[in-house]
Amino acid sequence: MSLTFYSKKEAEEHIKNLEGNKTGIISFLNGKYIVEITDHSDIICPFCGEKGFDKIGLKDHIRNNRCAKFEDILTIEEESKLRKIKWNNKE
Ligand SMILES: [Zn+2]
Repeated sequence: MSLTFYSKKEAEEHIKNLEGNKTGIISFLNGKYIVEITDHSDIICPFCGEKGFDKIGLKDHIRNNRCAKFEDILTIEEESKLRKIKWNNKE
């Protein structure tokens, strides 16, 4: 979502007063200040595609084994072992 303001102060004021998990980025275009609003409470899980997480919710979803798809991918140890094998084959 983006909003247009005619002064930087107004744009900054709007960002300050955003509620929930929203953040805003100001850009200056054609004499106007455009505020691009991002709602972080609508994060999609990159593994299973479930919607509607905020940052903490997504972390909880992945860390506490609530994501079945994430369970299926490699552990960090398995991945680094495979990477080492790949590197060795290159030499
Ligand atoms: Zn998930």
